[in-house]
Amino acid sequence: MDLETITEYRPAPGAAWQPGDAWLGGGTWLFSEPQPGLRRLLDLRGFGWAPLTESRGGLEIAATCTIAELARWRPGGPAAVAWATVPLLRQCCDALLASFKVQNMATVGGNICLALPAGAMTSLAAALDGVTTLWSPGGGVREVPVIGFVTGPGTTVLRPGELLRSVTLPDASLRGRTAFRQASLSRLGRSAALVIGRTDGPGLVITVTAATPRPVQFRFAARPSPDEATAALDRAGLDRAGLDGAGLDGAGLDGGHLTWHDDVHGAPAWRAAMTRRFVAEVAAELRE
Ligand SMILES: Cc1cc2nc3c(=O)[nH]c(=O)nc-3n(C[C@H](O)[C@H](O)[C@H](O)COP(=O)(O)OP(=O)(O)OC[C@H]3O[C@@H](n4cnc5c(N)ncnc54)[C@H](O)[C@@H]3O)c2cc1C
Repeated sequence: MDLETITEYRPAPGAAWQPGDAWLGGGTWLFSEPQPGLRRLLDLRGFGWAPLTESRGGLEIAATCTIAELARWRPGGPAAVAWATVPLLRQCCDALLASFKVQNMATVGGNICLALPAGAMTSLAAALDGVTTLWSPGGGVREVPVIGFVTGPGTTVLRPGELLRSVTLPDASLRGRTAFRQASLSRLGRSAALVIGRTDGPGLVITVTAATPRPVQFRFAARPSPDEATAALDRAGLDRAGLDGAGLDGAGLDGGHLTWHDDVHGAPAWRAAMTRRFVAEVAAELRE
């Protein structure tokens, strides 16, 4: 793709952001279609951030970490035993059904900032209670939980010129057991429904993505039965009050309602049915 409006490409460090600029991650989306509003590309790889950094607090994933690097990564030291969720990283990387060329170039940050409902890195980071670190052009830093970062298809909380520096997955989340379910209309199609369950002490966290315009999360204080888990989903389809009445927290519900995404990758009713089935399955799997 020739990007005819681009007049300058430069490393991001030291570049003062201005309207018409875009942060360049792996470029797999930026170079895939015309970008008439853009003038400059600011390449984030110039920062030279370490892709993955383990600490006692958790795992920091740099925005420039590629999907391939994340898929290959294994923890060392005590985390190698304690972080039971590590297979989920690979499952989510595989859910992004791209060629090896895209897998090797696309970045975790680019996938999250693109804010596609099928964004598998958003699914992963939201399910593990990840927290984004955002840098503003004026030098400010703020943190936003991933569950609230994506606000709809293609929209995020990023302000003009702000960039995603990293996502941190907390140690406590990485210790949980997880269950993963994903469906696409075709064998190599984009995710149309993706549900991740994660044990959280005696409780359970269920995160729904791909089927909904933005990530939606249900937190249960105790492990629900499959019927109890789907009942939470059904209540969310009715109204916010239904969730509050049941003592459930349903983050990401637009206007208090659960809505279903509608595009060529799946009809809303099918996405809803698959999600309901997957919610029951992950609840059953993690109840044992
Ligand atoms: C063949 C193919 C198959 C695909 N299949 C899937 C799929 O199954 N599921 C899915 O979700 N997606 C899929 N995609 C889209 C894919 O998610 C994106 O192309 C990829 O995630 C973008 O990552 P990138 O690093 O290349 O981002 P870029 O193309 O570099 O950037 C994407 C956008 O994010 C912005 N951006 C990038 N990094 C940052 C940052 N750190 N801070 C702020 N803004 C930033 C850019 O300015 C741009 O607006 C597919 C793409 C292809 C080409």
